[in-house]
Amino acid sequence: MSSSFFDDFLGKAKGVADAAGKKTGELVEISKLKLQCVQLNSDIRERYEKLGSAVYSMVKSDYENPELVNSMVEEITELLDKLNETSEKIADIKNISICTCCGAKNPPENCYCSKCGSRLTGKEQGFDKEYQDMASEAGKSAEEETPSENSGE
Ligand SMILES: [Zn+2]
Repeated sequence: MSSSFFDDFLGKAKGVADAAGKKTGELVEISKLKLQCVQLNSDIRERYEKLGSAVYSMVKSDYENPELVNSMVEEITELLDKLNETSEKIADIKNISICTCCGAKNPPENCYCSKCGSRLTGKEQGFDKEYQDMASEAGKSAEEETPSENSGE
């Protein structure tokens, strides 16, 4: 039921990604992973509810079935692992700096594209500012060292 809807969506998302090209491919990948997170969250909630009601009826009717409880707990653990994995994938993609000129993927610490040398945007502002300060410091000292044209007079 819900899983077939999910497969269906993935199929469509992949088709869209192929048509739209590489740059939007990353965005589609992220929205695909986000949808997976939403699906996993609702699956986990569903399992929790089932586990809760199973435990409730067992206690209520004074009937124990640890195997059932264990298998339900295992299912939830598996889903939580998947959720964790998916969240990490999203973080990985978001941390990568994609060059707006050539589309190359660069590690987050790069200020310039390793492929074409273009300035990478979308970096953390703090890092950027620090770099700009360094650059302007370097510019100042360069000016001081260069004799001005008027100094000869
Ligand atoms: Zn580039």
